[in-house]
Amino acid sequence: MSSLLWRLLFGYWLGATLLLTLLLTLIDVLERHREVVRAGEQASEVVASSMAVVMPPGLRQSLVEAYGNTSGSRGADGLNLLLVVDGQGRVAYSSRPAWRTLPIGDPVFSFPETSDPEFRAVVDCFRLNRDDCGLLRSGNIRLATGGLTVVRPVEMAPQDLGLPRQRFLVVVNFDAGLIWVHLLEDALVWLLVSMVFASLLAGFCWLAIAMRLLPRMAEEAQTDGLTGLSNRTHFMEQAITLLAAAEESHGSYVFAILDLDHFKRINDTYGHGCGDAALVAVAGVLKAVTRPEDLVCRFGGEEFALLMPASKEAGCRAMERLRIQLESSSVLYGGHRLSITASIGALATADSGYNIDYLYTVADRALYQAKQEGRNRVVWFGGESISRLKLSP
Ligand code: GH3
Ligand code: MG
Ligand code: MG
Repeated sequence: MSSLLWRLLFGYWLGATLLLTLLLTLIDVLERHREVVRAGEQASEVVASSMAVVMPPGLRQSLVEAYGNTSGSRGADGLNLLLVVDGQGRVAYSSRPAWRTLPIGDPVFSFPETSDPEFRAVVDCFRLNRDDCGLLRSGNIRLATGGLTVVRPVEMAPQDLGLPRQRFLVVVNFDAGLIWVHLLEDALVWLLVSMVFASLLAGFCWLAIAMRLLPRMAEEAQTDGLTGLSNRTHFMEQAITLLAAAEESHGSYVFAILDLDHFKRINDTYGHGCGDAALVAVAGVLKAVTRPEDLVCRFGGEEFALLMPASKEAGCRAMERLRIQLESSSVLYGGHRLSITASIGALATADSGYNIDYLYTVADRALYQAKQEGRNRVVWFGGESISRLKLSP
């Protein structure tokens, strides 16, 4: 039982850990991607502001180079290549000076990091000589694979060399491999966080189970569902313990089996529901007439068992009182008033010892005799039969 619970808890813990790790990593992927796009936009803003002021092209090139090398120190944020492409598809400025003045379609620009759709869109646009290439603008969110490129259009200041306003494209390429490495590092952290969180959750679950569910399950396992009395297994366990202690201390116990008379008739005449109601009523009488230290159980069917710390004499009175109580009580069901009687087989440990199996066998024999003699009576081990004992008040 508890090993099943442990397995369930472990499954729950594992599931919660994986699910949480997955969720946190997914959020991280989106957040990292957003960061890259933000970094790309920042780079294009730097280029745009350098374009907005008049400065010698050499100085602008140094600025692009410096930006590409510091901010994009290939590992810090994964910036791989910063290009400023003019209206003819020629690289006007490049973070790698050797690639300046090359057309963007040059094979030198074809490596895994530039295989992403945004970079290829720029190359293809100029290759096809389209005139809207200067307006290209990459979307904001796209999950990175090999590389990831942010493309933004910028305009050159009109005063620059007296030329008309010229459009440029800022192409900021990032190495997705590095982004994935960072994500993997993060995923390990998320895994640890998720494990801790799932452990806490599983701990709370275990507490709830141990404090509420297990005691309830244990109680249910010991109780007869219909009458609320102890069931046979629980009764026997308790009886063995009590009798063993009684044997040590030479204590005296009375054991009895009680079987309802002609119970089948009740079922047959008024239905099973009525029989059930009668069983519940009998259990009520048993609870009422016994003391807290007495063990009472539904042994099965319409048979009940009792074990009470008492001498034979006291037990004799108690059993007869119980028999009379049952005889005089009636069950109301569906407009019918039914009377119930019971036959009881009883014995005292002083006569029969402390072995519960033996006690049951002997009590059963006495019960059989009670039935034979006409029911509604108590028969004690040895054949002593009581059906109308005068009880002192
Ligand atoms: P006797 O006086 O010889 O004990 O006769 P009896 O009819 O009481 O005994 P018998 O063993 O012939 O029948 C017992 C009946 O108890 C049969 C069974 O349907 C009924 N019974 C057993 N358990 C339940 C129960 O949980 N609910 C109901 N309604 N009936 C039950
Ligand atoms: Mg029976
Ligand atoms: Mg019966």
